[in-house]
Amino acid sequence: MLDISQLQTLQKRSAKSYHQQKKLIANVLKGQKECCPHCEKPLSINVDYDQGITKIRCKAACTDIELEH
Ligand SMILES: [Zn+2]
Repeated sequence: MLDISQLQTLQKRSAKSYHQQKKLIANVLKGQKECCPHCEKPLSINVDYDQGITKIRCKAACTDIELEH
């Protein structure tokens, strides 16, 4: 059975992490140092010119965000 109060908590959490991720991306793009929330390693921008994809990722790849162009 679905517990509605739990469901709302989940939605709130994912919205919060979504906003945190957006902020993180914005900071990295501005050249600020940001660390992976999972492994605490620095995040870097990876540009794949062949595929036209820009990614923000950490060394361990637990953060691997594909950016929209
Ligand atoms: Zn990581």
